[in-house]
Amino acid sequence: MSSSSTTNISDVLREQFGYSSFRGNQEKIILNLLDGKDTFVIMPTGAGKSMCYQLPSLLLEGTAIVISPLIALMKNQVDQMVARGINAHFLNSTLTKGETNRVKKEVLDGKTKLLYVAPESLTKEENIAFLKQAKLSFVAVDEVHCISEWGHDFRPEYRRIRSIIHELGDLPIIALTATATPKVREDIIKNLQMENATLFKGSFFRKNLFYDVRPKVNAKVQLIQFIKKRAGQCGIIYCLSRKKVMALAEFLQVNDVKARPYHAGLDSHVREKNQDDFLNEDVDVIVATIAFGMGIDKPDVRFVVHFDAPKSLEGYYQETGRAGRDSKNSDCLMFYTYNDILKLEKFSKDKTVTERDNARHLLEEVTGYAESSTCRTRQLLHYFGEHLEEDCGFCDNCKTPKESYEATEGVKLALQAVHDIDERFNIKHIAELLSGSKGQYILSNHHDELPIHGKGKHIKTHQWVSILRQILILEYLEKDIHNYGVVRLNERGRNFLASPENIQLRKDHVYPEATEGEEVDQKEIHNHSQAYNRELFDLLKETRKKVATEKDLPPYVIFQEESLEEMATTFPSTIEALTHIVGVGTGKAKKFGTAFIKVIADFVSKNDIDVPSDMFFKTQVNKSRNKIQIIQQIDNKIDLEEIAELLSMDYDKLLEEMEHICHSGTKLNIDYYIESVLDEDKQDDIFDYFYEAESDSLDEAFEELGDEYSEDEIRLMRLKFMSEIAN
Ligand code: ADP
Ligand code: ZN
Repeated sequence: MSSSSTTNISDVLREQFGYSSFRGNQEKIILNLLDGKDTFVIMPTGAGKSMCYQLPSLLLEGTAIVISPLIALMKNQVDQMVARGINAHFLNSTLTKGETNRVKKEVLDGKTKLLYVAPESLTKEENIAFLKQAKLSFVAVDEVHCISEWGHDFRPEYRRIRSIIHELGDLPIIALTATATPKVREDIIKNLQMENATLFKGSFFRKNLFYDVRPKVNAKVQLIQFIKKRAGQCGIIYCLSRKKVMALAEFLQVNDVKARPYHAGLDSHVREKNQDDFLNEDVDVIVATIAFGMGIDKPDVRFVVHFDAPKSLEGYYQETGRAGRDSKNSDCLMFYTYNDILKLEKFSKDKTVTERDNARHLLEEVTGYAESSTCRTRQLLHYFGEHLEEDCGFCDNCKTPKESYEATEGVKLALQAVHDIDERFNIKHIAELLSGSKGQYILSNHHDELPIHGKGKHIKTHQWVSILRQILILEYLEKDIHNYGVVRLNERGRNFLASPENIQLRKDHVYPEATEGEEVDQKEIHNHSQAYNRELFDLLKETRKKVATEKDLPPYVIFQEESLEEMATTFPSTIEALTHIVGVGTGKAKKFGTAFIKVIADFVSKNDIDVPSDMFFKTQVNKSRNKIQIIQQIDNKIDLEEIAELLSMDYDKLLEEMEHICHSGTKLNIDYYIESVLDEDKQDDIFDYFYEAESDSLDEAFEELGDEYSEDEIRLMRLKFMSEIAN
């Protein structure tokens, strides 16, 4: 490391990259690599890892290979290099044969300084053969955590990298990642045989990020309020599924948020446009799937919201790391419900046992994080093997601390338990031991015979889990790197056992359990009919008339006034949202909804309406508790009287329930029954009446049709009519 080379690389930094000084460990890392040594870099997203291989590639003879799993980002990186006058190329499946040949020629001619290669391209025989002929300088393995099954992004091809590098002639390796738990780190070193590598680990502490977890109740409403408070600022919202991405983006748009969706299933030019619009500030909010690496390098992302729980804390930290790269305060918000964790667990049900176990372990960490009331930053850093001596003072748990309690005795018992079972078990097991469980594992290990068994039965198992997790983060315990989940005593823990000191712990958060459709408003909305927007209502009526004429149906069959009033109150903007409107079922929404949501969306945007956020949704009250049975019986063509008897209700009540079912959009085919009680002429008369009628009012029908027809008959025919025509 002569001073001349130091000056030299500073010059290159200035001349080629336009930066005046190195950040963090960049300089040391670059010099280490230029010295031909293996180098292991763990730095958070945005810290400037790319520079650590880009710059040295310029100073060394030959081509540097950069292995990166993110094909989508390769082009960006290469474009950036080319813009700086650096000869860079990529080799991946998106290239045509001709393009591939051109790239290879440039490399063989010794012109290319940086060659980005996707792992699956690297492992191809023909490419290995080609690389063997080239003059190479070193290999950079980006996103190197992909090598480990214990991480969140395992790629089997990464396991072959070491043997391929051997074939290429033992080049120096620089391995880089933004996320590596101590366990993953160990895995990387073993796999790449980098035992002698110099490790450069930057701190993961991002002082300007405010971490916050909120219960996933009324999440859409919470989200709108959150965004409205940050008007004009830009942010990213992560969802689990493409469908959710689309729906949420649309929801935000209707509420005057400049939002766009982004996921792998979108047409590539739409995706690119949305991303560009975000980068150019034409759009404030991007709604994206977690699975998709966004590769954006926008310094002023002010918030990152996880609308659904993340699959791992690694992913979470990386994704939230996209906020506040300009060092200004930014928010990282997660909506949490245990249901999301269960959903995510289901995703991996078709995977191998090991994969499933790993996925579950990662999810347990997410749950632990969300439910714990320990400083968020401290928890996250602990997860990545970094210890923070004090609380950060800048997270939800620090700002609004949960009540604390004296826990000296509990901690003593917990540490004693770890000790008594030879430091070979995980937190869950220790908690069960303390609370006196007679579960299978306790029994098969004969732990029920230990004196410590049940010593803490005055406290529930989950509370023991909470205590154990907290003392792990406070570092009275440590994780066993070699055995996943196993906790052991460390010095601090042993000292505590020898002479306990007073210790305070905090109670965990308790999150309400959300049900299916969790983000839907749980409270019903009543009596808002006066609140409807008259102008929109009139527009909707006009639309109804148009649609009715088009379809040659009476307007009330399309949507009833009551439904229109509610639309003019809650401004539904998607077919899905429309189904929450009274009297609108899925069938109806699909059949007639499109024109209406368009009118609503136009109206909302034209009039700059601040949609009253607590009115977006109403729960569909299922007024008919016997719905399923009734539908089944009718499907089986059981006589209505019999159904009524079966469900112990009177006939009138049954008709009422059927009307509700029909009203909420479900077709009921009761022809079999009508045939038996009404002759054809009568049927036609009533049916025709409803075709011509102004409304579906029973009284009006009665008046018009005269007393030749009973109320029950009219009601039956109305059911038939609504089922066939309206739903
Ligand atoms: P990472 O890969 O660690 O997430 P990047 O390599 O993408 O981060 O770098 C993040 C940003 O920081 C990029 O815009 C990069 O150009 C910039 N950057 C890198 N090194 C420096 C430096 N020494 N001075 C200023 N900006 C830098
Ligand atoms: Zn904190």
